[in-house]
Amino acid sequence: MALGFLPSLGRERFIVGNAHAETQAVFKLPDLGYPFEALEPHIDSQTLHLHHDRHHAAAVAGLNVLVEKYPDLAKKSAVAILSELDKVQEAVRAGVRNNLGSHWNHSFYWDIMTPGGAKEAAGDLRSAIDAAFGSVANMMDKVNAAGVTRLGSGWAWLVVDKRGELQAISTQNQDTPLEQGVRRVVLAVDVWEHAYYLKYQNKRSDYLKAWWNTVNWDKAASNFARAPA
Ligand code: MN
Repeated sequence: MALGFLPSLGRERFIVGNAHAETQAVFKLPDLGYPFEALEPHIDSQTLHLHHDRHHAAAVAGLNVLVEKYPDLAKKSAVAILSELDKVQEAVRAGVRNNLGSHWNHSFYWDIMTPGGAKEAAGDLRSAIDAAFGSVANMMDKVNAAGVTRLGSGWAWLVVDKRGELQAISTQNQDTPLEQGVRRVVLAVDVWEHAYYLKYQNKRSDYLKAWWNTVNWDKAASNFARAPA
């Protein structure tokens, strides 16, 4: 490899430079946990690359700037901050809402998709879905409807709301359901155009239908079993 032929000083400087950047960055872009092409044909590799490497990365970069003005970002959990956004000082609140919301939402979204794992809801989650919606298919219809009817950009969710009821909801932009006091966040699907437009163009409902093939039901079950972290 070409790197092996660089003078050692150059290599050291290169490594030191990276190490410095690494220690300075409070927020880091998480790995997907699977290869970029692993969710094809439902989510294509190019979309996933742009979505993760550019869109999510921009939020992480934004947070690493914002943390200078709002050090609590490095001290408190994302869930704690996003659950009480009204306590964030007004000068940085929109930045926190959008960047920390994006970071938490996207991290959740990568985790709730997988090329493997259980292919359908089971156990307590399955029972709760059947009780609340009548069937898994009806629940999917409700989540899809929440996603399709979200005007502009946002997210569709399956949550256990503050009353303890399983609900399909949507949020705008990078808002999370955490500020609604939800007890559980079970599923999230990104309905921003950047999540699907390269492959599905304007057909958001086709993306939503295909997205269910990627759901990590093991992760959904563990999300249903414990409070968001
Ligand atoms: Mn997105």
